[in-house]
This record gives sequence, C-alpha cells and structure tokens, in this order.
Amino acid sequence: MQAIYLDHAATTKLKPEALSKMLPYFTEVYGNANSQHAFGREAMAAVDDARDFIASAIGAKPSEIYFTSGGTEADNWALKGMVRAAAKKGKHFIISAIEHPAMIESAKALEKEGYECTYLPVLSDGTVNLQALKDSIRPDTTFIGVMLANNEIGTIQPVAEIVNIAKEYRIPVFTDAVQAVPAMRIDVKQLGVSAMAFSSHKFGGPKGVGVLYLKTGTPIAKMMTGGHQERTQRGGTTNVTGIVGMAEALRITLQEMDANNAKIASLRDYFVARVKAEIPEVIYNGSEQNRVPSNANFTFRYIEGESILFRLDLAGIAVSSGSACSSGSLEPSHVLLAIGLREGDAHGTIRFSFGAENTKEEVDYVVDTLKQNVQMLREMSPLYHK
Ligand code: PLP
Repeated sequence: MQAIYLDHAATTKLKPEALSKMLPYFTEVYGNANSQHAFGREAMAAVDDARDFIASAIGAKPSEIYFTSGGTEADNWALKGMVRAAAKKGKHFIISAIEHPAMIESAKALEKEGYECTYLPVLSDGTVNLQALKDSIRPDTTFIGVMLANNEIGTIQPVAEIVNIAKEYRIPVFTDAVQAVPAMRIDVKQLGVSAMAFSSHKFGGPKGVGVLYLKTGTPIAKMMTGGHQERTQRGGTTNVTGIVGMAEALRITLQEMDANNAKIASLRDYFVARVKAEIPEVIYNGSEQNRVPSNANFTFRYIEGESILFRLDLAGIAVSSGSACSSGSLEPSHVLLAIGLREGDAHGTIRFSFGAENTKEEVDYVVDTLKQNVQMLREMSPLYHK
C-alpha cells in the first residue's frame, strides 16, 4: 500500500542535515551548556552559533532570541507575559478569533484572572477585519496578537498593516509565525512586530523546540522560573540537540525555499483544480491569493470529515480534519465557524498540507481515492438525499 503524507502542517519529517548536526550533541558533546568546563563550553558554543544564525535569518539580534519548548510555550509566554507585564497600564487585549488553541486557551486563562479579551472577527477568506481591529482598540489595550499564517486554512494575515494601526496607539503586536516560517522569509524589523513565535518541527527540525523573538525593551513577565538560562528569562537546562537541529533545519529551509515553494504550490494548485472540477458540492476554504503554498482546505458537504479521514487513512493517505492539535475533539473548528461555515459544513472539512517530497502521481491517487470515497459516503448519508 502507498503511504502518502499530506499533513505537513501538523508536523514534518526531520531533515537529514538536521539529524547529522544533532547526533554528536547526544553522545559526544553532551555537557550542560551552562557548565563552566570544556564539555559545557563546547555545548554553549553550538547554542550560540544557532542563536546567531536564527537571529540573522529573521533580521533580529541574538539577544532577542529566546529558546522555548515549541510554539505552544512561545505563544503562552508572549500573550500571558506581555499582558501581565502591562497590567498597570490596562487589562484589555486583542487577538484574532482564528488563533491557534495555544493563544485562544491562554486568552481564556487570562480572562479568568480578570483581563478582558476582544476576539477579532475575520472576513470569509480568513483575513482579519482591519476595521474591527481599529474599532476594538481602547485606551486600556496593551497587546494585539494576530497569527502570520493560519494552521487550518493557510490564510496569511496583513501583519505589517496591523502593526501600522497599532503603532499610533503604541500597542505591541505579537505574531504566531509557526505556519509561516516554513513558507516565507520573515524580517521582524520589516514586519514591525514586538514579538514572534515559531516552532522547529514545522520546517524539518526536531519536535519540542521553538523560538520566541522578543524585541529589545519589550516588557514581558516570566513564565518559567528557575535557573539563569536564556538570560534569566526562561529557566531549564538548554535543549542543545534541539536548538542545533532547529537552526540547521531553518538554514536548509531558507536555502531551498524558492524551489520548494514553487513545487509545493504547483502540486497544491493541481490538486485544488482537480477537486473543484471533479467533486461536486465542495467549498474551498481560505484565501485564493494570500495563502501559504502548502495548504488546501476543502469542505465536502453532507458528510463527516472524520469519515473521509478514516477512509483515506485506510488507503494510506494521511490528512487532517480541522486542526491537528484539536482533532480528537468533535467540536467543530473555531476557525471554520469564524469564516462563516455552517456547523454541518465545518464538520465535513479536511485539511491537505503538501510538502516538497509529494509527487503528482500521489496527488492523482489522492484525488481518485477521495472522489470514490466522497461519493460512497454521500450515498450513505441521509443529509445528501434530503
Ligand atoms: N501555533 C500554530 C499556528 C500551530 O500550527 C501550532 C502547531 O500546530 C502551534 C502554534 C503549536 O506549536 P508546537 O507544536 O510547537 O507547540
């Protein structure tokens, strides 16, 4: 049976170059990076090199890079840390309604502490409503968080425009760039954000490591208390192997980005064109233009996404229904509801996320399998026959 992986937004395979860079730090250079002896110094030198490279890759200073356990921690830290640090100025903050659960759940936790959150509505293509943003800003607003690219529908947000609006009111903007880093070159100075999160395993690095970029002078409360690591801001023994692997994966990602994006976008576009032409009653969710090249998100009306996922899995095809991080719950996705899908349609939605190793033959097999199964499931669905 074929094994076809179309779930690159959930996670990616470790790049071989990242693995080879990591290996010696498991077995030979295993010192604690904070130890003062040669073992430790050698480990710290590798972490410093990784920090320098990552900083230069996003137009930041090395002192603005904080290593975390991934996107979830970086999102939690930015939102809770920046909002709490500004509590004297005000207790209101704004995030988009389609943020990752790492943001939405952190916002809810802050609401329980007495903070107030405005969840910004989005247009039907998933773009944040800028007028609603302007209308939501208040004298006590201390934080705006809008993701650079959405994990379910792939929509890219006008973050630089959001920063321009926020600047007038001197409100810091944070962006979750977890899905954006694999797809685009980012310069934090050009983007103008005060903070940004990303995660290694989305671009061929190891799991469990990520970055919070924090512009010099941005007030933030600590999330993790402990040792002196990460300039006392984030205690915990440094994840040397993870950091080294992440930096190498980022280096390769940037090196291959143009060629890979062109290839991935053409596979995705071919897939989208075939699905639209050959499967009736589908909705293509997200923006046609402002979208990461890897993402295609379709609603197959009258049937359950879970049933499609299960049948594709039996045929050796890995996809996701809604967000990978929230699948397992049968709640309709908050992102799909926010773009205006009806609850029933939201349930019939599948995310396909392509990678550079996918082929046209695989796409043909996926569309053929999808066609057969969608038809079969619809024939069994009472909704379809109404
Ligand atoms: N933010 C977005 C947009 C994501 O897609 C994800 C993971 O799916 C995360 C945050 C969480 O990142 P991590 O898996 O590194 O915790």
